[in-house]
Amino acid sequence: MKLSLFGQRYAGPSGTRQLMEDLGSALDGSRDVLMLGGGNPSHIPEVEALFRERMQALVGDPKRFAHVIGDYDSPQGEREFLDAIAALLRREYGWDLSRRNIALTNGSQSAFFLLFNMFGGACADGRRQRILLPMTPEYIGYADVGLSDGMFTARRPAIEMLDDHLFKYHVDLRNLAVNDDIGAICVSRPTNPTGNVVSDAELAALSDLSRHHDIPLIVDGAYGTPFPHIIFSDATPLWNEHVILCLSLSKIGLPGLRTGIVVASEAVIDALTGMNAVLNLATGSMGAALVCDMVASGEILRVSREQVMPYYQRKAEETLGWLRKELDGCPYRIHKPEGAIFLWLWFPELPITSAELYARLKARGVVVLSGHHFFPGLEEDWRHRHECLRMTYAQDADVVRRGVAIIAEEVKRAYADRRQLVV
Ligand code: PLP
Repeated sequence: MKLSLFGQRYAGPSGTRQLMEDLGSALDGSRDVLMLGGGNPSHIPEVEALFRERMQALVGDPKRFAHVIGDYDSPQGEREFLDAIAALLRREYGWDLSRRNIALTNGSQSAFFLLFNMFGGACADGRRQRILLPMTPEYIGYADVGLSDGMFTARRPAIEMLDDHLFKYHVDLRNLAVNDDIGAICVSRPTNPTGNVVSDAELAALSDLSRHHDIPLIVDGAYGTPFPHIIFSDATPLWNEHVILCLSLSKIGLPGLRTGIVVASEAVIDALTGMNAVLNLATGSMGAALVCDMVASGEILRVSREQVMPYYQRKAEETLGWLRKELDGCPYRIHKPEGAIFLWLWFPELPITSAELYARLKARGVVVLSGHHFFPGLEEDWRHRHECLRMTYAQDADVVRRGVAIIAEEVKRAYADRRQLVV
């Protein structure tokens, strides 16, 4: 079998594949592991009960059920759902948009594939465009989606040290030149892997930059607002003709329904609709059908703000407490948890690489992610890349607590045994 370049690029190993396979094998029960590595949202009982009720209502309505499972939607997505999303965004934020500004994709991951290859890569005039990630660490899932090499260019963050072993990354706006080869800027807000929330001022500055250079600012709101709203700090959402806001139904608890929602200018939506038609004919209908009424009534906001967000905030605080207790005596730092479902741990001057720490933890049945995966497009080497770990706190409390204890043991062992210096 002789694979094309495309085949080699996507069929081979990748960080995303390793992550999803680790996640799959941990969740299918074939290995006894403490899974703190994936991005799977929690199964929140009250939220799941609500979706079960909605699904039963859908199945109990023969006409609607037959339509949802038996008909292709339009490649832009189901009209009633697009209208409901547009109405919600107009109502909540006063944004001037209609359903012509919204398209669905099969999960937001596939929106990133389409958008990055739409604005990055070879252009008709022979130039190559790249996607600028203004602040790494950034989401591992972007790293492998480019159809061509060198799709990303990225910048280091500025680091603010905070009390109580916390720290926070900031967009280093002073060093953020946007050269002619930049086709789009992208940030996740809240950020996977760090739990950072790019401030309103930083977002406004990025929006100004994108407007000035007439390129889009892609804001990945997979954990953001209006849903699932896993944000513990103040953050005002932003949208304008230059912003492409990517939302998802996954982190509210529906990752199996693969529903991404893109909010953008009519021209971008039209292009995505064309790509959806060629690549997928239509997007899956079930996610939109299940939550359409909740979006229309605004109930999805209540669930997000009163159930989903407080649930994760509680878990973040609880996990932070365990980490502080177990890591006491180590020179550790934790990124201020402002949202998403992860904690980002930094072990300054760690005598082994985070990849080695990952391997040691995996051997002890604890799956986390080594921080070095989260710097797509950052060309310079930087020791910090090899000193961090991402762990999720979305799993059961007992799994997280036991995992934290083992992480602390291994970190303490590594600091204690400086002879193993391999960085
Ligand atoms: N963006 C971020 C920051 C994520 O963490 C994820 C998934 O973990 C995605 C996008 C993609 O999610 P989905 O394709 O399930 O919408």
